[in-house]
Amino acid sequence: MSTVLVTGGAGYIGSHACKALAIAGFTPVAYDNLEHGHAEAVRWGPLEQGDLADRARLDAVIAQHKPVAAMHFAAYAYVGESVTNPGKYYRNNVGGSLNLLEALRDHGIDACVFSSTCATYGVPQHLPLTEDHPQKPINPYGASKLVVERMLADFDAAHGLRSMRLRYFNAAGADPDGETGEVHDPETHLIPLVLDAAAGTRPAITVFGTDYATPDGTCIRDYIHVSDLADAHVLALRALLEGAASAAYNLGNGKGFSVREVIDCAQRVTGREIAVSEGERRPGDPPVLVGDATRIRNELHWLPKLADLDAIITTAWRWHTRLDAGIRG
Ligand code: UDP
Repeated sequence: MSTVLVTGGAGYIGSHACKALAIAGFTPVAYDNLEHGHAEAVRWGPLEQGDLADRARLDAVIAQHKPVAAMHFAAYAYVGESVTNPGKYYRNNVGGSLNLLEALRDHGIDACVFSSTCATYGVPQHLPLTEDHPQKPINPYGASKLVVERMLADFDAAHGLRSMRLRYFNAAGADPDGETGEVHDPETHLIPLVLDAAAGTRPAITVFGTDYATPDGTCIRDYIHVSDLADAHVLALRALLEGAASAAYNLGNGKGFSVREVIDCAQRVTGREIAVSEGERRPGDPPVLVGDATRIRNELHWLPKLADLDAIITTAWRWHTRLDAGIRG
């Protein structure tokens, strides 16, 4: 059975990708330093604890497991922190990725699926965002991911290391079987915070800005189920293993929901009253981010299965209530 190295395999999106890989017949080897990842989220293959900064450890793991390809998720992903501490982001997200790419090159591995982001586009010049939209990130997190996209293109040109650069919109939801889900500390994302408010573990959800030029004044985002993201990674991997050239793909549902619509949906799904407070805008938030994923639908035949917001929040709530009950995994 072919092995795939999954950096960040103990994290939110990485653990869902490991499950999708296992279902597709691969053995995922999770390489994770467990700084933000959770050992109990690694259930579909071995966990190799290690840091991307540790080239010797990376080499040893690759030599031992002989992966045919890598999926690269490991990165810091707090936009606000990247603004106040950019060095941390460039060191880990760029420096760590460089170590990985050089290790892949040196071990003769020529396929990498990379976890990129719509944050590489910056402020939209047109909507929905297509892959050829200019990439002008407005924060160091997005910039660090864009540098890695660039490094991947250069490693392809020089060394034949082909890559799929997958640019996610707002990853949300949890494994429909309840086997893994979102556990961030600190949690900053809208849906888990709204569900905290529904569960009563937070007094209220604060809406960041109610004066945007959108129909209800709150920001609009394109929420995409994490298991649909994971499936897209497997499709991208298979394409690479069949010899496809490098490409970049958006992963979104092409439909935006406002913060208020997300809260309304969560009230419906949970049957709970959710207290809402109105706050200031969060710096760096574009009013609307919606992605056009036509390219991956057409070229790799990606078909999201949990595309509606109710389904996304239903799976997130199921996971959330398990966590509240103290059960994990
Ligand atoms: N948001 C909010 N209150 C919160 C957290 C987020 O109103 O406590 C808003 C945020 O301003 C953005 C949307 O919800 O418009 C999604 O934010 P999230 O942090 O989940 O994802 P991002 O869009 O930053 O990747």
